[in-house]
Amino acid sequence: MQLDTRVGGKTKLTGLIGNPIEHTVSPVLQNSLFSMMGIDGIYIPVKVPQGKLGDAICGLKASGFTGFNVTIPYKEEVLQFLDDISDEAVLLGAANTIRVSGDKLYGYNTDGDGFLRAFREQTESGFEGKLVCILGAGGTARALTAKIATAGAERITVINRTPERAQELSVNVNRILEARGFCKITEPAGLDSREALAALEACDVIINTTSAGMYPKVDNSPLKDDFRFRSEQIVYDVIYNPAETKLLAQAKQFGCRTANGAGMLFYQGVRAFEIWMGTDIPDIKLRDLSSAFVKYLAE
Ligand code: NAP
Repeated sequence: MQLDTRVGGKTKLTGLIGNPIEHTVSPVLQNSLFSMMGIDGIYIPVKVPQGKLGDAICGLKASGFTGFNVTIPYKEEVLQFLDDISDEAVLLGAANTIRVSGDKLYGYNTDGDGFLRAFREQTESGFEGKLVCILGAGGTARALTAKIATAGAERITVINRTPERAQELSVNVNRILEARGFCKITEPAGLDSREALAALEACDVIINTTSAGMYPKVDNSPLKDDFRFRSEQIVYDVIYNPAETKLLAQAKQFGCRTANGAGMLFYQGVRAFEIWMGTDIPDIKLRDLSSAFVKYLAE
């Protein structure tokens, strides 16, 4: 019999805390990164019951973990246990990646970086001078608006079913963007308003951050069936299950360039790994792993 010698006393420990965690795909990505990089490390999901977050974090710290990811429902609650929080995690009010250094905990949010790297790779385009419409005003929209503004977009319009949430988002994010001289976010009256339609028709990039169209409600779309895309528009959906949402299928019919959220999921995980291991991994080194991961997600 072949012995499994992969884990030993010197193995670096990383993981994920959340609840539920049964369907997470992060271990596949992170353990493949350890193998690819030839680093003796392991990533394990840990289901943390309600009310036990503090105990779980103390346990991971005391056990010598190098770092861990945080997922639903603890991304906001975790902040109170951290010694230092990155600007981005402060802005978003949520951390998804924690690095342990000595007895200190450092919090980061890798969603924005992951999105930007994925968008550039998947669409071969950037945001410099672009008019961008973001559908949705939840946590993901907030992470993306700030990142896209700092990437040089000319105008960002946040369009949400509940307009009050878009207003709240723009007030919070604009406070920071204005101070740094980036473009301001505007928000029209609602998904079906005339202003929203005009912004959608005129923009270069449409990004869906709503959960409309996500499995199992695959017949949903944030835009109406009769919405007319322009073929020059890029349409990005942060949803990766299904691989082609109804929105992306609609856009494809008009000849638009489209991409789904598999790349974002991949690169937010890569960024977490880079933070823990203190190393940047060049895109070229990630190419085979990225396509294997995207294929795995689609199975
Ligand atoms: P969230 O904070 O709960 O926000 C959900 C947003 O979707 C809200 O703006 C909500 O509008 C809108 N919405 C929900 N159902 C809708 C419908 N039927 N029509 C129109 N709008 C609808 O969620 P989140 O954390 O931002 O996540 C949003 C999506 O991003 C999820 O599908 C999630 O899986 C995906 N995601 C992907 C990645 C990745 O790596 N690819 C990372 C993070 C999240 P109201 O305000 O009107 O309720």
